[in-house]
Amino acid sequence: MTDFIEKNGPSSEQMLARDLNVLWHPCSQMKDHENLPLTAIKSAKGAWLEDFDGNRYLDAISSWWVNIFGHTNPRINQAVKNQIDQLEHVILAGFSHEPAIHLAEKLVEITPDGLSKCFYADNGSSAVEVALKMSFHYWRNLGQRQKTRFISLNNGYHGETLGTLALGDVALYKETYAPLLMECLTVKSPDCYHRAEGQSWQDYSRQMIEPMRQTLEQHHHEVCAVFFEPLVQCAGNMRMYHPIYLTLLRELCDEYNVHLIADEIAVGFGRTGTLFACEQGNITPDFMCLSKGLTGGYLPLSAVLTTQQVYDAFYDDYENLTAFLHSHSYTGNPLACAAALETISIFETDNIIEKNKPKSQLIANLSQELVDHPHVAEVRQTGMITAIELCKNKTTKKAYPWQERRGLRVYQHGLKNEVLLRPLGDVVYFMPPYVISEDEIELMVNVAKQGIHLATQ
Ligand code: PMP
Repeated sequence: MTDFIEKNGPSSEQMLARDLNVLWHPCSQMKDHENLPLTAIKSAKGAWLEDFDGNRYLDAISSWWVNIFGHTNPRINQAVKNQIDQLEHVILAGFSHEPAIHLAEKLVEITPDGLSKCFYADNGSSAVEVALKMSFHYWRNLGQRQKTRFISLNNGYHGETLGTLALGDVALYKETYAPLLMECLTVKSPDCYHRAEGQSWQDYSRQMIEPMRQTLEQHHHEVCAVFFEPLVQCAGNMRMYHPIYLTLLRELCDEYNVHLIADEIAVGFGRTGTLFACEQGNITPDFMCLSKGLTGGYLPLSAVLTTQQVYDAFYDDYENLTAFLHSHSYTGNPLACAAALETISIFETDNIIEKNKPKSQLIANLSQELVDHPHVAEVRQTGMITAIELCKNKTTKKAYPWQERRGLRVYQHGLKNEVLLRPLGDVVYFMPPYVISEDEIELMVNVAKQGIHLATQ
């Protein structure tokens, strides 16, 4: 037996037994794994993952939306290897290092004009917490202590820590913890799934600025900021809206003197067809939160970009106690910064935003046939994100009872057929790494189509 393991390595079965003995997995009912085996991955290359028995899976969801240029990408691998022999980590308070400086310079350069300061954290939720505290603290430093509240959109998602759960509005994650959460003002989202038949995305999204106007009119004096996910509410079932809303929201926040905080953690780095979603509304938010694709999916890192005006409100003699005394141990980790710098470099040298256009078009073309499927309520796409929403009744868009877990059937069908799809409830979606080839796109969409047919019978 020992000989066998040494020669061939452990099998998937052996890995899973060890796993279930000690591991508690994220976002999982562990009892599910009595019937639904976990998949332990041994190695990965490009868009493909490989398990301990040699089975392969096309990573159609970029490993929770983080991977951009494929697994074990040679360029990012090399950048991290180079960095690790130079400096693995150092405290960022009172000290600095080249990768953190260079990355901050790059982020200031590539994000919308006016964002000129970069504050690091080490995951998406922490970035949102940073923006939340910074906005509140900004108004406090200005003497506006009545500003203590936040506005966010219904069906939004900003993370799992208590501050970010409070801002979010996905019941599945939030409801249990409601007694622990600060109370936010929730405004109706411009999510175009709810538009009238025949109404354009633009028309609906424009119309949906009205509830925001009303809430701001009533509460602006006590509101620090509006949080939102530009163009796609990802964890909220990949619901999408038109860029006109970004432009109108920016105007309203200016009019009512509240900050605009763009959570581009999921949609940044090309997912929506532009490097950042905010570009499509031609806006500069007061804060922009970045993570996930920032390091190409290699290492945990996040950044909050903000303006000189915000920075200046904290800049004073120490005794005045206006400093932003927030920190995370791994703030600006050099290895993560090196991975991020190489990721941004690939965007620049390989003309990725342009090269993605025919890929998203191919995904749209191949998914088109599902528009007429009797249990598909909608096929929608923004850039490199495509979603197919299943329903029980096409005319009324009535959902299947959630207990039927139809999406899970699509997931299981995918795994049997070499594609990792991980539907959000009954919404099947594609958010692949940009290295995906035409053949792989065909495989991804075809397996999803078969899975949808089987799951809706
Ligand atoms: N904001 C958005 C829009 C997200 O999609 C996510 C993660 N899915 C987060 C914040 C939280 O990021 P993290 O999981 O790294 O804490």
